[in-house]
Amino acid sequence: MEKADIKSMTIGELETFVTEVLGEKKFRASQLYEWMHVRLAGSFDEMTNLSKALREKLHQNAYLAVLTQARCLVSSIDGTRKYLFRLSDGNVIESVLMKYKFGNSVCISSQVGCRMGCRFCASTLDGLARNLTASEMLDEVYSIQRDIGERISNVVIMGSGEPLDNYDQVLRFLKLISDEKGLHISQRNLTMSTCGLVPEIMALAKEQLQITLAISLHAVNDERRRELMPIARRYTIAQILDACRYYYEQTKRRITFEYSLARGVNDSSEDARALARLLKGLNCHINLIPINPVKERDFEQSDPVSVQNFKNKLEKYGGNVTIRREMGRDIQAACGQLRKSYTDNLLGKEV
Ligand code: SAH
Repeated sequence: MEKADIKSMTIGELETFVTEVLGEKKFRASQLYEWMHVRLAGSFDEMTNLSKALREKLHQNAYLAVLTQARCLVSSIDGTRKYLFRLSDGNVIESVLMKYKFGNSVCISSQVGCRMGCRFCASTLDGLARNLTASEMLDEVYSIQRDIGERISNVVIMGSGEPLDNYDQVLRFLKLISDEKGLHISQRNLTMSTCGLVPEIMALAKEQLQITLAISLHAVNDERRRELMPIARRYTIAQILDACRYYYEQTKRRITFEYSLARGVNDSSEDARALARLLKGLNCHINLIPINPVKERDFEQSDPVSVQNFKNKLEKYGGNVTIRREMGRDIQAACGQLRKSYTDNLLGKEV
């Protein structure tokens, strides 16, 4: 029998598992849940208020998803930490800790690799290996909290992978990480970024979570967007914006739009005006990201003056805009870069 992934279970599912599979009393589920999600135990053997016999049963019937740290790079500029974690099957993923005045924010991966194929992104260069389980995503956060000994207050699902392409596990992750019986990170401090999978955005809206939805827009018309993001061949900008309006109706949560600026590609003042026009009337926030150049891709970063002009123009037309502060520049913090250089190294490629 396959061992159960108990760290991905809700408390209700865990109660069923504990009583029906292990033949134990129901309250054991609460103890187990607390060990996993509050005390962040790294093994069954740490769970000292469970009897040896029960721990033995757990070893036989279940496993605890725990990531091992393969590398950790610390930025000397801003203290950003980039972790490379090894999964139990040998795959590696990356997660990033950013220290802000408001607290500790962790950026997690939702898949090993990605199959969305965005032209400027390093995560997708080798395609998708597999989805992450909810427990593996949780342990990205838990491992970092354990490592730094400080509470993680915010999580952004903006690392490698397309979260809505791993809908069920990501939804499970969101519910577990915000559960008041677990780490209890407020849903308002959770952000999920998507390249725009319309049916999944609609489904998520119906869940009525209080998380922030971030949409990777990056272009103001479908033709240009299709050049940057293959997913734009499946869904138009108009369809995405309709889904966003629905999301807002259902949740009353302001939407974030991410717009990565590439020199000469999408950063003209005409683009800024078109973007303002497109988002008019939508309760939203625009996050401008000067594109992070990736070796295998031929996009260049917009110069700081163009980025500022773009922001000014958007504001003139009523947009609510911030420029994303670049963090961890010295430690390959752009999506997928560290993992890529690590796996390429293993394969003996020049990096
Ligand atoms: N799959 C999700 C999460 C991706 S990463 C999504 O598409 O939203 C988070 C953000 O970083 C996305 O907006 C993504 O388009 C952007 N991004 C990826 N590579 C980048 C790069 N090299 N420079 C700037 N932004 C990048």
